Amino acid sequence: MYRPRVLLVAVNARSIQANPALYSLREAAARQDLADMLHIYEYALHTPQQQMLAEIYEMNPDIVAFSLYVWNVAVITSLIGDLQRVMPQLKIIVGGPEASARGYHYLNQLPADAVCIGEGEDSFCALLTALAERQFYAYEQDTLPVVPGFLVAGAEQEYCPAPLPDIAGLPFPYDTDTAEYLRDHAKLVYYEASRGCPHNCSFCASAREKLRERPLELVLAELPRLAAIGGQMKFIDRTFNANPQRAIAITREILRLHRPGLSWHLEVSPFDLPPELVELWCNAAPDYFQLEIGVQSLTPAALQAVGREGNWEQAEPQVKRLIKSAGSHVHLDLIAGLPGDTKKGFAKSFHRLHQLNPDYLQFGFLKVLPGSPLAGKAPELGIGFSGEPPYQVLATREMAPAYLFELHRAERAFNALYNKTKDFRLNLLDLAEESGDALSVYQRAANLMHWRGLNQGEAAAIVRRLEEENYNREL
Ligand code: SF4
Repeated sequence: MYRPRVLLVAVNARSIQANPALYSLREAAARQDLADMLHIYEYALHTPQQQMLAEIYEMNPDIVAFSLYVWNVAVITSLIGDLQRVMPQLKIIVGGPEASARGYHYLNQLPADAVCIGEGEDSFCALLTALAERQFYAYEQDTLPVVPGFLVAGAEQEYCPAPLPDIAGLPFPYDTDTAEYLRDHAKLVYYEASRGCPHNCSFCASAREKLRERPLELVLAELPRLAAIGGQMKFIDRTFNANPQRAIAITREILRLHRPGLSWHLEVSPFDLPPELVELWCNAAPDYFQLEIGVQSLTPAALQAVGREGNWEQAEPQVKRLIKSAGSHVHLDLIAGLPGDTKKGFAKSFHRLHQLNPDYLQFGFLKVLPGSPLAGKAPELGIGFSGEPPYQVLATREMAPAYLFELHRAERAFNALYNKTKDFRLNLLDLAEESGDALSVYQRAANLMHWRGLNQGEAAAIVRRLEEENYNREL
């Protein structure tokens, strides 16, 4: 029987990353004795396109499947164009969050032969089975088989969604060889203990996804296998502490597995932090936990407009404890350009989070993601945004384009002076305290640097200049 060669390709944001979706697909296929059809190539955004093109060409697959995200669409679109020029018989499949949200668009625009919509483990195996059952393959005129979850060019009217895979039944994504590869190449090791989120923030692509948890006993049994790989583990659960008691049980097991060189990255909601969980994270070995805490905004009107719930006044003391503790490296997320957020409201949120002195403060901008509840409401809310990835906000009723551009410049200054180094932290905290408005410090800094990057000496000169300006104002 002919077994087509199917190449799964990831183009990751950074070379330290390894796309877990590909390994999850391969392990799911292995259970059905289909893994021999699958091959995996991983690249990073900075990989020369010529290299990707040549390696895929030399491998000579029948089908190439790409995982599309907002950050890699442009590169993959260009690569697919070249692949079609040099391998006209090649079948192209795209999947992943970006393809799932705009299936028909990518089917036509790329063009692709099929789009895998939604979670792929079961539907991809169904496709491989259907391919393996064909007596021969791949004439240029063939269409791909139609299976649930796949939007197939030429058979669009036959599309039907696939049921969600049983998360309890999914295999552990890393076999012995993959574990060795991840360890030897010092890759981040991604792990998924749950999918979906119980919250409903309208800007988020997970907002409509019901929370599904992998059984706790299975997670506890898999953690030692992850720890054995070593390095930095990264839970991709949208909200690690969505179920706080479960988060405590997992954290206890992670603590038991401690050894030098190991750390765990978790995405955390500030609003589900029982003291027991905070205590465990605070008392861990230095920087054993890396917590990314999604605050997003402190402006009540903005929180209401995007359907985000939670009481920051109650959450803040716990977040402060985590920032002050040695056991956790704390990264706070803040979003500019939310509907309902004003210039004053954003500046207040920024100042308050800045003065907590987190290890890292992500000064992000709203993205109106296709498929998110906000995408449908954007015109009604007066949000203007870029029509192509990353769908970034360009204007809101409260923030004109000129102001958002000014914020982008402030963000560059902030990253150069605050996030990139801790050398100026105390000076910056003092400057912000004196002015009562941390954002204005970086707006002033942005005027001194405009769009240029900064080396350490230039950064130090800007901080000195800001201090002199403050001093002169006080005289
Ligand atoms: S932003 Fe975070 S908390 Fe809100 S729906 Fe998305 S994953 Fe859940």
